[in-house]
Amino acid sequence: MKNKEIPYKIYLDESELPKAWYNLRADMKKKPAPLLNPATHEPMTAKELEGVFCEELVQQELDCDTRFFEIPKEVRDFYKMYRPAPLVRAYCLEEKLGTPAKIYYKFEGNNTSGSHKLNSAIAQAYYAKKQGLKGVTTETGAGQWGTALSMACAYLGLDCKVYMVKCSYEQKPFRREVMRTYGASVTPSPSNETEVGRKILAEHPGTTGSLGCAISEAVEKAVTSDGYRYVLGSVLSQVLLHQSVIGLEAKTALDKYGVKPDIIIGCAGGGSNLGGLIAPFMGEKLRGEADYRFIAVEPASCPSLTRGVYAYDFCDTGMVCPLAKMYTLGCDFIPSANHAGGLRYHGMSSVLSELYDQGLMEARSVKQTEVFEAAEYFARIEGILPAPESSHAIRAAIDEAVKCRETGEEKTILFGLTGTGYFDMVAYEKFHDGKMDDYIPTDEELAVYRAKLPKIE
Ligand SMILES: *Cc1c(COP(=O)(O)O)cnc(C)c1O
Repeated sequence: MKNKEIPYKIYLDESELPKAWYNLRADMKKKPAPLLNPATHEPMTAKELEGVFCEELVQQELDCDTRFFEIPKEVRDFYKMYRPAPLVRAYCLEEKLGTPAKIYYKFEGNNTSGSHKLNSAIAQAYYAKKQGLKGVTTETGAGQWGTALSMACAYLGLDCKVYMVKCSYEQKPFRREVMRTYGASVTPSPSNETEVGRKILAEHPGTTGSLGCAISEAVEKAVTSDGYRYVLGSVLSQVLLHQSVIGLEAKTALDKYGVKPDIIIGCAGGGSNLGGLIAPFMGEKLRGEADYRFIAVEPASCPSLTRGVYAYDFCDTGMVCPLAKMYTLGCDFIPSANHAGGLRYHGMSSVLSELYDQGLMEARSVKQTEVFEAAEYFARIEGILPAPESSHAIRAAIDEAVKCRETGEEKTILFGLTGTGYFDMVAYEKFHDGKMDDYIPTDEELAVYRAKLPKIE
């Protein structure tokens, strides 16, 4: 089929939407390492995990064998309000770049929360509701996850308690108010509400908080409150499972036109959008049915895949969560204060870490000024104002398309455009005013955090 016949946007009919999530782990010969109990270093049992997480989500977390999980009808109905997410052929960008490459992006910013996180938020809220819980607790950094979760909880009538990293709470009042509009309560973290928050405040007075610390607070709140569980917006295998809806839709849309991507690119924070986007394609690669190049793009200021180590580490600062084997910078690592591009988590999903370790996926890091250059370029050409996180993928997609211009190769590139950047204008302002710099941690700095990794036999 000729390219001309491919529309700007490939939509799917309601009947073509995925009815099941795809569990990539089922096709991995070497499975991701299990979560460990931080006290005993034994694999976490379902019973232990159920004190923190909802029961069905624990089943999904531990299941490395079931290939498909049916998407509950209630979740599919909610998905219909904002899905399918458009798959866009970036004709304008291709023309501007003068590249023979064909560029597609899957746009997940088409809902009020502004990112892909809603795909897992509604699933997690649904299972909490089904279990008869009163509510859920969580943390949020930049605020996208908290926003998505508050929307999902409002829809299902669940209470939602969000610990928001203090510097974001202060710098992003609009995000906070969106969450409150959807009925969530939002607490700046570290707070005096929890034991771990008080401890961190005593040790580091005046701290502006971190994701790892907000996670510890949210977990403590969940386990000490009757009828509450903790939910997490990235990193965990269950989140990658829910996000497979991104890749399944993208693949169905491309298959309709007989298009096969050569390169699939996504930004990587905790790994959920990338894991979801690549899932069905990676499945084909693992089964030997097709081959693709996969590229994870991360910030040079928080380079867990490209400069971290593959080891067991804590998921949070308070060391209350299970240990996960992942590419990590160490759980105390916090990107420097000038870092504005999101994707600031110290570790990477165990599933993606394992795939990367097996050489099935590539990773690269990009500097934030180059990310914002790409963001602005993209906004002016394709119209969408991208989230800084998403712009890491845009950067790499443009770089690959430019390579094709130089070599004359007509590669097909698919990238994930995870969200919009309306709430990130302070970061854009810094960029426009020339106040953004590219601080990259030194090897010595990284070694300090690496030395503190737990020793696991
Ligand atoms: C949270 C977020 C990310 C990064 O999270 P992953 O779990 O790595 O996908 C990327 N883009 C946007 C817009 C986000 O909100």
